[in-house]
Amino acid sequence: MTDLSKYIREVPNFPKDGIQFKDITPLLQNPEAIKEAVAQFLSLIGDEKIDKVVAIESRGFLFGLLLAEKLNAGFVPIRKPGKLPAETYAEVYDMEYGKDTLEIHCDAIKKGERIILHDDVLATGGTARTACNLVKKMGAEIVQCNFLVELEFLNGRNKLNSYAVESLLKY
Ligand code: AMP
Repeated sequence: MTDLSKYIREVPNFPKDGIQFKDITPLLQNPEAIKEAVAQFLSLIGDEKIDKVVAIESRGFLFGLLLAEKLNAGFVPIRKPGKLPAETYAEVYDMEYGKDTLEIHCDAIKKGERIILHDDVLATGGTARTACNLVKKMGAEIVQCNFLVELEFLNGRNKLNSYAVESLLKY
């Protein structure tokens, strides 16, 4: 099994001092690593029937769409405000400084659909939690939240404690 950790580059002090950024672009350059990551995600999902993969802007889109294709599911983007063209639902959340908002198209998910929520990195969990709130408000079922990288010391999974959470690499 390919060790995916060697394809994650740590960039100190990006985007600001004190943040150790987990850069997934080396992984994206390597076709074997891409295949391995997709295979590991699929094995964590097992034989669950999935209707939609919902992924968070922007790095969540990369593996989110690959997973959707493999799962024979649809793909739904969650985006920063003002990016989605049609009618949206929005959810505001607290950031370190001030507030931010995530949006989803109102017609993107139907009641009762079975969802995978995906992003590249789980840090404090605020972003993923907000995305889950949007999906839940639309009446869908979150089967699993999954991430390439989890920063365990930030306890993000505590914010997602009503959902199954999986990550390929833990730091
Ligand atoms: P959080 O809401 O704190 O869980 O932050 C998650 C979002 O911020 C994800 O969309 C990540 O892409 C990004 N993020 C947070 N911390 C990092 C980090 N150390 N390295 C790379 N991306 C990060």
